Amino acid sequence: MTFSEKVNELFSSQLNEWELARVNYRQLTGVRTRSIEYGTFKILVQFNPERIRSSSAKVDAKSIEARPCFLCSENRPAAQRGVAFEKNLTILVNPFPIFTRHLTIPSEYHIDQRILQNFGTMLLLAEAIPDFVVFYNGPQCGASAPDHLHFQAGSKGFMPLETDFINGIHTRLLNVNNGIELWHWNNYLRGIVTMRGNDKDKLVNIFQSFYRKFSSVQNANPEPLLNILACHNDGGWIIHIIPRKVHRPVQFFQDGDEKILLSPASVDLGGVIITPREEDFLKITKDDVTDIFRQVCLDENELPNLFSET
Ligand SMILES: [Zn+2]
Repeated sequence: MTFSEKVNELFSSQLNEWELARVNYRQLTGVRTRSIEYGTFKILVQFNPERIRSSSAKVDAKSIEARPCFLCSENRPAAQRGVAFEKNLTILVNPFPIFTRHLTIPSEYHIDQRILQNFGTMLLLAEAIPDFVVFYNGPQCGASAPDHLHFQAGSKGFMPLETDFINGIHTRLLNVNNGIELWHWNNYLRGIVTMRGNDKDKLVNIFQSFYRKFSSVQNANPEPLLNILACHNDGGWIIHIIPRKVHRPVQFFQDGDEKILLSPASVDLGGVIITPREEDFLKITKDDVTDIFRQVCLDENELPNLFSET
């Protein structure tokens, strides 16, 4: 049995034996979606009430300390089973899905959410489950458990970012460094740099050099603000790196009609905005989306410098 087949088997058996997952995946088929058109690309809005836990998660140190960690194995639901990956990760079915197949992949150990030392593992994971896009939400960029290392993965072909990269309208090749292509995005609301290549060690090196540079300009604790989406196709990786300015937009903290409960993370910036409240799903406009993306992401012109060789 290949690793992918094991994950498929996990999926079908969990949907058979775990009521919560079965009900939530069934409900996902009836989920409401809107499309906001930007001409050459679109942003989808998904109304998904079950995601309220994640969108409104309190991730300050005090709240985190006060709650049992839902990713630690002793606190997971009894019906949730996993498939081990590498030395310390476990692939689990996410019971509150956005994707028709949605995985959560925590570390076996309760260690902090950090990317620098785990980027290589993320690439191995993307290679092992080629039907999925693997994503990383930094501890201040959408991770609802900033104290427990984890990735997520969702079925390929769902986020507009994936096809927008392939059709190439908004991308141009910045340079080729040791066989690794670096792509820059233009007129796409949010600054993204995409790496493509088939040499894992070189990808890791380029990422680490970007990370150091971004750390020195951003000076954020505990790590520079980042979302990352990675997949593996035809023998190589495609990795979208989305550096962030802030965790949550001003609308998140407002009251009454001004409030929009949207806490952007990898999937939102991949082009599928998740609104857990119906009122936000109905009222969010193109101007709101443009404004929110500009608040939380770097401008496209600020990015190439972070990837230049020095
Ligand atoms: Zn934990």
